[in-house]
Amino acid sequence: MAAVPRAFHVMSKPTGAICNLDCDYCFFLSKEQLYPGSGFRMAPEVHEAYVRQLLEAQRGVDEVVVAFQGGEPTLMGLDFFRRTLELEQRYAAPGQQILNTLQTNGTLLDDEWALFLRDHGFLVGVSIDGPRALHDAYRVDKGGKPTFDRVVRGIDVLRRHGVDWNALVTVNAANGDHGREVYTFLRDELGASFVQLIPIVERATAELLPLAEAGWGERSRDRPLYRQEGALVTHRSVGAEQYGRFLVDVFEEWARHDVGDVFVPTFDTALAHWLGMHQSGSCVHAETCGDAVALEHNGDLYSCDHYVEPDYLLGNIAEGRTLLQLVDSPQQRAFGNAKRDTLPDYCRRCDVRFACHGGCPKDRFLTAPDGEPGLHYLCAGYQHFFRHVDAPMQTMAALLRNGRDATGLRTWYAGRDAHLSPTDPCTCGSGTAFAACHGGPAPRRS
Ligand code: SF4
Ligand code: SF4
Repeated sequence: MAAVPRAFHVMSKPTGAICNLDCDYCFFLSKEQLYPGSGFRMAPEVHEAYVRQLLEAQRGVDEVVVAFQGGEPTLMGLDFFRRTLELEQRYAAPGQQILNTLQTNGTLLDDEWALFLRDHGFLVGVSIDGPRALHDAYRVDKGGKPTFDRVVRGIDVLRRHGVDWNALVTVNAANGDHGREVYTFLRDELGASFVQLIPIVERATAELLPLAEAGWGERSRDRPLYRQEGALVTHRSVGAEQYGRFLVDVFEEWARHDVGDVFVPTFDTALAHWLGMHQSGSCVHAETCGDAVALEHNGDLYSCDHYVEPDYLLGNIAEGRTLLQLVDSPQQRAFGNAKRDTLPDYCRRCDVRFACHGGCPKDRFLTAPDGEPGLHYLCAGYQHFFRHVDAPMQTMAALLRNGRDATGLRTWYAGRDAHLSPTDPCTCGSGTAFAACHGGPAPRRS
């Protein structure tokens, strides 16, 4: 029976958890323990099964994303990616659009890599946490040495050859008070036009916290397998209020100067919610999840990149059941729906629930003010951010609904910064009163 085509996302890990760096907050390095004795290289038959099953399952989808991350996927060498292209040619339907993506720490990129990535239209995500001191706070190599220079050199190679790249920033305790500084560094010094923001929340039980504090990487010889358990967090984790301030800091800079020029998925996802769209970009703030699975080097498929642990193993794509069958399995549907079904009452009554949806289940380990468990660790930050952006989001949504450009938000900010009254002429030069032009809705919330 033919499978029903539909979109889902697979993060494949061709080297498993193996990486040439040893970032202090990287929970994924410990996943090496799941496969003792493995060579940690995706075998040709698994590679082929991944590409073939993904393309076959998504025949009706506009663009199939073939994603590689890690660990560090460039450790596979270029030939692995050349073979990826051959497999795509073999299994793509006529006219099927494919986007290859690579998430890397950037340190191994050279001219040969950059030319290959450019010539084949790869979208490359590079992990960088800000200017030197903020980046090097936790992003170190196996010897504990800083990596900033090597990462920036990798980005320079990509830029020199015109590779489409984006910055992936983890927001942690070290850079969490420096949102604007991090953002403007990426924009102005590195020319980034796509900035992805990911909060670091490292959970631990009381028993494991001392080991967790030492770092999950290889320098901590007794490191435990990282699991989503415990209600404590390491000192590297971003604070809840701190995360909210970081997002607001970046938003205020972006909204005044960069709407339309710099893409920040966190803000686009929020805008989608203010527009009433059910499909938002990020799983974290979607009502349900379960359409973003993780593929280990040996073909094991897990419910999510954050749940690569035995209880969330769906099956193996090289051993009978296909990617689509596993993504559509009752186990995975239950996983995705639990995000909505386990939402605490406090969230159900929250004024920004439409934009937040309680955040990712992996971080729901607080007790709500009414005593119910399961509130998201970052709740205070989410509330601060979503309430802060209410008026500008309403403004952008109104502009778009009226067939205008969301970049008009810059004009809205200019008018507010100039303390225009509603009847003053709009700063866009239209001659119309500010309130009727770019003035937008009055702020409803702080
Ligand atoms: S902001 Fe807090 S209370 Fe509101 S939906 Fe998000 S996690 Fe729940
Ligand atoms: S568990 Fe969290 S990260 Fe994973 S798919 Fe669900 S919302 Fe996304």
